[in-house]
Amino acid sequence: MSDDQAGGPALHPLLLRQLRKAGLTQSLPEEVERLVRLVDGAYREQDLERRRNTRATNLMAEEMTALAERIRVQAGQDPLTGAANRTLFLRRLGEAVEGLGEGGHLAVLLLDLDGFKLVNDSLGHGFGDRMLCEVCERLRNVAPADATLARHGGDEFTLLLPSVGRSSEAADVATRAIAALEQPFTIDGNEVLISASAGIALYPGDAPDMGALLVAADTAMYQAKDRGRGQYVFFSAAMNVRLHQRLLMKSRLSKALERGDFHLVYQPKTCMRTMGICGAEALLRWHDARLGDIPPGQFIPVLEEMGLIGEVGLWVVGQACRQMRNWRDQGLAPGRMAVNVSARQLRRPGLAGEVADIVRRAGISSADLEFEITESTIIQDTDLAIPLLNELRAMGIHIALDDFGTGFSSLGYLRRFPFDTIKIDKAFVDEIMVRPDDVAIIRAIIAMGHALDRRIVAEGVETAAQFKLLKELAVDEIQGYFVGRPMTADSLTLLLPRSS
Ligand SMILES: [Mg+2]
Repeated sequence: MSDDQAGGPALHPLLLRQLRKAGLTQSLPEEVERLVRLVDGAYREQDLERRRNTRATNLMAEEMTALAERIRVQAGQDPLTGAANRTLFLRRLGEAVEGLGEGGHLAVLLLDLDGFKLVNDSLGHGFGDRMLCEVCERLRNVAPADATLARHGGDEFTLLLPSVGRSSEAADVATRAIAALEQPFTIDGNEVLISASAGIALYPGDAPDMGALLVAADTAMYQAKDRGRGQYVFFSAAMNVRLHQRLLMKSRLSKALERGDFHLVYQPKTCMRTMGICGAEALLRWHDARLGDIPPGQFIPVLEEMGLIGEVGLWVVGQACRQMRNWRDQGLAPGRMAVNVSARQLRRPGLAGEVADIVRRAGISSADLEFEITESTIIQDTDLAIPLLNELRAMGIHIALDDFGTGFSSLGYLRRFPFDTIKIDKAFVDEIMVRPDDVAIIRAIIAMGHALDRRIVAEGVETAAQFKLLKELAVDEIQGYFVGRPMTADSLTLLLPRSS
């Protein structure tokens, strides 16, 4: 009997092995052959049965895991850290509010890690998860016995202090918590330093109900972050005014584009070799009929938060391109036009195509355009940023690394990313006048940049002394009050050279 029995399909491998063992490999009488086929069928059915069972077992295991997860959640436990989850926290808060005696106070402390996203992005989620567990452990150690510690998701933790005699008791807990998290974390031989910001809100003084109390603690926490992180802040009624202003800003911003309330100003860049204007950076400004002129540092983060930055960013590119065309039509040579692009804008699907369309419609060349991108933008989304930057660059658009010297200033980035230009931040330029060490650093950056064939622009140049030093350091271009403040298109028109 052979593997490939004439007239029938190959026999089940197990059956075939047994037939071989029994020496039944020659051709068999017809009735034996029929019997063998019957047994073969039984073997196959068993295979099928086994597969079915395995599948059922796997399904059951999955269901059990999901069930266990659901039970944990219902029991009020955060699956990662074992701390209370949001639901349990709210239940305990409700009980504490109800049980509060006449004249009693309770406090909610909301704590958020500073820069945790960077830990996750650079060391991986596995590392981040273990770190969160240790954060939880440290917080448990400093919390009073009657406190409830909860993880609200992400890197946000809350502590309910169900009875605080004075607000200083809550402050003591916050101080201990922040100090505990400032100790280095060592996981797998990696040492990481982190800080935390906390907001504290008191009931019933700061808010009439539980929801408002959490919002108040959250508002105070953001205030702590604003003030420089690694500290705690008590909620105050004045913060509500700021919150209200922010809400108002949001509602006004949502209509600003269609109302035509945005405009651009242009800050020139000067070429050190020719001392002529070689380009400008387009900067977004917002004038609102009710709120007046709001500084970009205030409204741009809100545009980002509202998810409007992509749309407004494209408007900026379009407006800048049309202005460029306008100057060209007047026989002027505006050089290269730079626009600032944020991480969120880079995440917009189809960005490169939209930009190509705008450039074409404006009748300029993509090579006339430069995108300024900050280092932190790239860190936030490296996997997405590199291919997109390459795509934009393939279209001819120049890419500049903006605000260099403020973030990580990693020299590695200069090599890995497709930049044409490096813009040295104003903070760094300010420093070089007073700190000789910084001159050495800037000299090294420029030497490395030039070796990689990048242009170096110094931002925020304000004095003749800075100008002189930067010229000695062989910076290619400068930008700052020394050569021109951000100005209207009409003002810049007067300064632009005629095209030859
Ligand atoms: Mg810029």
